[in-house]
Amino acid sequence: MKNSGYQNLDLQPIAGQWRKGRSPRSLEVLDPYSGDTLLNLPMASHADLDEAYQAARDAQPAWASLGPTARGDIMRRVVALFDSRKEEIIDWLIRESGSTRLKAEIEWGSARGITQEAASLPGRMHGRILPSDIPGKESRVYRKPLGVVGVISPWNFPLHLSARSVAPALALGNTVVIKPASDTPVTGGLLLARLFEEAGLPAGALSVVVGAGSEIGDAFVEHPIPSFISFTGSTEVGRNIGRIAASGSHLKHVAMELGGNSPFVVLADADIETAVSAAVTGKFLHQGQICMAINRIIVEAPLVQEFTRRFVERVGALPYGDPARPETAIGPVINRRQLDGLKEKIAKAREEGATVLLEGEPQGNVMPPHVFGDVTADMEIAKEEIFGPLVGIQSARDAAHALELANNSDYGLSSAVFTSDIARGMQFAQGLRAGMTHINDMPVNDEANAPFGGEKNSGLGRFNGDWAIEEFTTDHWITVQTTPRGYPF
Ligand code: NAP
Ligand code: MG
Repeated sequence: MKNSGYQNLDLQPIAGQWRKGRSPRSLEVLDPYSGDTLLNLPMASHADLDEAYQAARDAQPAWASLGPTARGDIMRRVVALFDSRKEEIIDWLIRESGSTRLKAEIEWGSARGITQEAASLPGRMHGRILPSDIPGKESRVYRKPLGVVGVISPWNFPLHLSARSVAPALALGNTVVIKPASDTPVTGGLLLARLFEEAGLPAGALSVVVGAGSEIGDAFVEHPIPSFISFTGSTEVGRNIGRIAASGSHLKHVAMELGGNSPFVVLADADIETAVSAAVTGKFLHQGQICMAINRIIVEAPLVQEFTRRFVERVGALPYGDPARPETAIGPVINRRQLDGLKEKIAKAREEGATVLLEGEPQGNVMPPHVFGDVTADMEIAKEEIFGPLVGIQSARDAAHALELANNSDYGLSSAVFTSDIARGMQFAQGLRAGMTHINDMPVNDEANAPFGGEKNSGLGRFNGDWAIEEFTTDHWITVQTTPRGYPF
C-alpha cells in the first residue's frame, strides 16, 4: 500500500465517526490468492447498527434539502477521486477480491460510471401536475426520496455493486447504511465511504457496518428506520430478506438482484469465431463469478463440434494464477468454501455423464478452467448457478429447441444469442424470459443508463439511469381544493 493511500481501514464510519466496531468478534480479511491477512477488524454490533441507522435518519432531511447541484457536485468530486485514486482502488480490488487486473479495471470503470450517472440524477427527479375530474382541484405528484436506504452487497463486484445503490440513493436525497460482504469489507464499503467523505458528504449520511450476514443481517433488514433494502446476492438469502421485509413489523420496499443462469445460444448461422471469443470472456471473466456470466452454452447441432473444438482450444490457452500479473485471465475464486463447492460441481458433472474436455488441479484458490461436453438440461451443471470457471456445452436440434433449452431455468437475468440474421436474433430475444438479452455479444453487459435486473428467481426491480430514480424515490400525491366542493351529504 502506498503511503498516500487511505489509512486505518480497520475503522468503520458509523454514525459520522470512524471507529472500531463494538462486537466482541473480529473479521479477518484474506487475500484470496496469497492467503495473507490484509486486515483484522472488530465487527459492528447491533448497537452500532442502530446508531448508524439513527444517524442516517437524522442526517437525511438536511441532505435532501441541498439543491440538486450541490448533491451532484459531491458525486462529481467522487468521480474525480476515482481518477486520482485509481491505482489504490485497483490494488484493493486485486488483493481483497482476487480480481485480475483486467476485471479490477472494468469494475473501477463501472463504479466510476454509475457515480457519474448519479451526478445527473438530482436534476432528473421530476414531479407532475395531473388533470383532475374534480372542479377546482389541483392534483400534484411530488417525487421524494425514500428516506434511509440499507444496502447489502456481495463479494464478487463489491465496489460496483455497492456503488450502484449508494451513489443514486444519495444523489436522490436519501441517506445510506451499507453492509458489505464479509469477504470484501474494504472494496464493498469502507473504501467507498472514504471517497464520499473526502468528496464532502456530510457526516452520518453514509455509514458502513461490517458484520456477518448471519449475525446482523436480520436486524439490518428488520430495523424500523430504513424504508428500502437494496440487496444484491444469492437467491436463497434474497428470499429470506423479502420475507422479513414483508412480514416484519416494519414493512419496506426491497430491490433484489439475485442469482443467474445465463444461456449463451449459438444458432447455426452464427459467425463462429466471434461467438467463441464472446463465450471465452463471457464465461471466464472474474473466474466466472459474475451473476450475468455464461452458465450454459447451447449450440445448434450443425455447429456443436466446430464450436466446441475452437472454444476448448482457446480456453486451454488462458493464463491462470496470480491476478496481479497483467496477462492473467483467471485468478483465484474468493475463498476455500467456494473452491470446495466447485470441486463438488465438477465431481457431479462427471458422475452425471458429462464428457470432460478440459480440466486441471486447483492451486491454492485458483481453479483452472473446466469445460464439459454432452451436457443435458437435467444435469446439475446446467440447472444450478455455477459461479466459477466451469461450463458445459449443450446441443440443440434447431432454433426452437435452443429457445426451449434457454428458457428451461428458474432464473432469468441475462442471456445472449448469436446469429448472422439480426431479425432472427431479435425474434429469438423476444422469446426469452430474461431481464437482459444481448444479440451477438456476451451476456455480461452493464451500462449506467440501461436497465439492469432480472425476471423469475433472478430478482425484483431494476438499477441504473431512469430506473434508479424509480427505485430510490417514491411518489407523494398532494391535492389542493381551490374552490368549495359539493359533497353529497
Ligand atoms: P450471499 O451469500 O447471498 O451474500 C450477499 C450478501 O448478503 C453478503 O453481504 C452477505 O453477508 C449478506 N447476507 C448473508 N446472509 C444474510 C442474511 N441472513 N441477512 C442479510 N444479509 C445476509 O451471496 P454471495 O455468495 O456473496 O454472492 C454470490 C451470489 O450473488 C450469486 O448467487 C450471484 O449470482 C449473486 N449476485 C447477483 C448479482 C445481480 O446483480 N443480480 C450481482 C452479483 C452477485 P456475509 O458476507 O457476511 O455473509
Ligand atoms: Mg456468502
